[in-house]
Amino acid sequence: MKIEGIQKCNSPFGECEHEYVWMYQISQSTNGRLDVEMLDKPLASVIEEQEDRYKMRVICPKCNQYNTFEYIKN
Ligand SMILES: [Zn+2]
Repeated sequence: MKIEGIQKCNSPFGECEHEYVWMYQISQSTNGRLDVEMLDKPLASVIEEQEDRYKMRVICPKCNQYNTFEYIKN
């Protein structure tokens, strides 16, 4: 299963504000390889999981800085 979202760059370094689509694969494949179709979007990773939300991190494709944000589970 994978989820997608839109993030506006919130890097503390500079004023990038680039808006982009990220994605996250909840269950990684057993061989550790990612689907080819996923490679066109930045991959987010979960820093912390709470009952109703994920705290996530993704690298902005424009400025290459980490963005952290919360994703509310459906
Ligand atoms: Zn950025």
